[in-house]
Amino acid sequence: MMEVCYLDANATQPLRPVARDAVLAAFTVTGNPSSVHAAGRAARRVMEDAREVIASGFGGRAQDLIMTSGGTEADALAIHALGRGRRLIVSAIEHDAIRSAAEDAVVVPVDQSGIVDLDALALLLADGVPSLVCLMLANNETGVIQPVEQAAALCRQYSAVLHVDAVQAAGRIPVKLDRLNAHSLAISSHKLGGPAGVGALLLAPDAPFAAALIGGGGQERGRRGGTPTVALVAGFAAAAQEAATDDLMAVAALRDRAERAAVGCGAVVCGDPVQRLPNTTCLALPGVAAGVQVIALDLEKIAVSAGAACSSGKVRTSHVLQAMGLGALAGQAIRVSLPWNVTTADINTFAAGYARVAARLAAGTPTENHGPTFR
Ligand code: PLP
Repeated sequence: MMEVCYLDANATQPLRPVARDAVLAAFTVTGNPSSVHAAGRAARRVMEDAREVIASGFGGRAQDLIMTSGGTEADALAIHALGRGRRLIVSAIEHDAIRSAAEDAVVVPVDQSGIVDLDALALLLADGVPSLVCLMLANNETGVIQPVEQAAALCRQYSAVLHVDAVQAAGRIPVKLDRLNAHSLAISSHKLGGPAGVGALLLAPDAPFAAALIGGGGQERGRRGGTPTVALVAGFAAAAQEAATDDLMAVAALRDRAERAAVGCGAVVCGDPVQRLPNTTCLALPGVAAGVQVIALDLEKIAVSAGAACSSGKVRTSHVLQAMGLGALAGQAIRVSLPWNVTTADINTFAAGYARVAARLAAGTPTENHGPTFR
């Protein structure tokens, strides 16, 4: 198979061997965790052991962890279950998983670094209207980390509810719901090196959960119906456990090297110098459309994100970079996101490939702007 330098971890991470082993082992367990017989109890044990690992790893209680099909469903469930009878307030840089479930929401702006405007949030909350605020912990495009603890303090001051999309932060920085003092946390297995197709909504003990999105047979304490894929949950837990031991400083050092190499070729870092995820950098190459850069890097066997087409095939420019006021650069930025198993050789490959691409494109390749898209 073709060797690819994979630097698109924020789209999905390579599966960790420990997660694959856990999935395969759990697939040999036959029972339905809802069944009372021995086979069902065996499946339930796998499920509940995994639930305990995930919940405690992210600062919550096992009984407050609702397994879902992934981050998108966890976000949708939070908005459905916690937003009932409340005004929705979201930051301008939320992922589509939030935006599509909160179309009528009031939007809070961000500054040029991509950090949410807490004064604007406070002003909104001060009117006393019962509200659900959705704020991501780290942005998927820039990696910029949001002041979630301060937002939580504001929400608690005004009796608002806070849902945190921690899909990109989980496994990249320490994430604890109890320390953040928010009401709920969305996490996704494949973003931290577990299997795709599973995620979770972790509730704080005082989260006002009103109603399930999927009723079904009363699974997950009546909060999410449907027979769970026990094996995926087991893989999720194994990945989360291992991700907590990753050497984040080493990843950040490699990210910084990649960034320096790109800046040396004329790139501008979006979201610098504020606190960012250690694995993420968003690099704009002035005058060169993001889609063109992605294709040129792909030809160099380097996988990064942005591109001309989003999953629905439509062309659009990043709402995140636009919200940061980056103007034309919003269509000229790529996201480089290092996976858990990144190597120095990967970064050397990136640096050499990026230099060739930047030199070639700056020399006059068409710059038609298809705008970046990110997942
Ligand atoms: N939230 C954020 C910030 C994301 O980056 C993503 C995926 O890219 C999601 C939610 C959706 O997660 P999933 O792919 O597990 O549905």
